[in-house]
Amino acid sequence: AKQQGRNNFQWYTSDLNQRVCEYASLRNDLQKAIETQTLQLHYQPQVDARTGRVVGLEALLRWEHPEKGFISPTVFVPVAEDSGQIIPLSLWVLDAACAQLRQLSDQGTTSISMAVNISPMHFHRGHFVQYVQATLEKHGLRGEQLELEITESLLLNNAEQAIETLHRLKALGVRIALDDFGTGFSSLSYLKRLPIDKIKIDRSFVQEIATDHNDAAITQGIISMAHHLSLTVVAEGVETESQMEFLKGSYCDVFQGYYFAKPMPFVELEAFLDLPASI
Ligand code: C2E
Ligand code: CA
Ligand code: CA
Ligand code: CA
Repeated sequence: AKQQGRNNFQWYTSDLNQRVCEYASLRNDLQKAIETQTLQLHYQPQVDARTGRVVGLEALLRWEHPEKGFISPTVFVPVAEDSGQIIPLSLWVLDAACAQLRQLSDQGTTSISMAVNISPMHFHRGHFVQYVQATLEKHGLRGEQLELEITESLLLNNAEQAIETLHRLKALGVRIALDDFGTGFSSLSYLKRLPIDKIKIDRSFVQEIATDHNDAAITQGIISMAHHLSLTVVAEGVETESQMEFLKGSYCDVFQGYYFAKPMPFVELEAFLDLPASI
């Protein structure tokens, strides 16, 4: 038993070592990817529940590692947040998403907005609002064309300051969406203090709405509460027709999910939106 215990311990440490190594190499490779700008953005359409028209896009990071293939942002975004690389990465994402939005605007899609995911670290950094403003100006965009997706974790340390920053963003016309709604600890009364425009119901609720009474009830409750607070409701991760029908019947405003379209590179988006291809 002793012998086995020691082996287990050795196995554990070498496993840990290996993980530390993998982490360090991921960090290094990510650094290279940032410097050589080999990261990409894909765009997922958001569809108006009533008209069926595409009203928005969410920009999602994609990284194709030279040896390991595609690495999920759920893996490398936390690494970047931990190492501080999220700052240059986020600056690039915002700029690149706005550049593409400019191009879409030029192709005639002036009513489509672009949603960008914002890390708390980026949000809390000095000059965040100025950077957003400068980026909008650089690309000749109105604030209303940009949406920032935040999570409630942003409010953890200094809620007052976060709320003030949100007000300054709102003053630019920028829209704010609260992402992954329902997964955290947000009490409903908390919501009315936040200067936000939208909530995005988390995929984990949407997944079960057609089969689970509780998730269906929670989702309907969230939608009706949000509407009372004059918030728009986006459902994420809509994969099936029955999910879509249920959400439609519950007066959800906007759908996003594989049922409509997966995140896609810009060139595919042009075809999806039936736009004249860019040069
Ligand atoms: P998120 O912001 O909640 O993004 C939604 C995720 O759900 C995306 O995963 C999207 O591809 C996926 N999704 C959309 N529709 C469906 C569906 O119908 N079914 C299923 N199964 N999945 C669906 P993705 O692209 O892998 O991104 C994962 C997370 O990584 C994001 O979650 C976000 O937290 C983070 N992330 C992605 N891009 C960025 C970025 O540019 N900046 C920051 N800070 N985080 C990002
Ligand atoms: Ca998001
Ligand atoms: Ca989400
Ligand atoms: Ca999520």
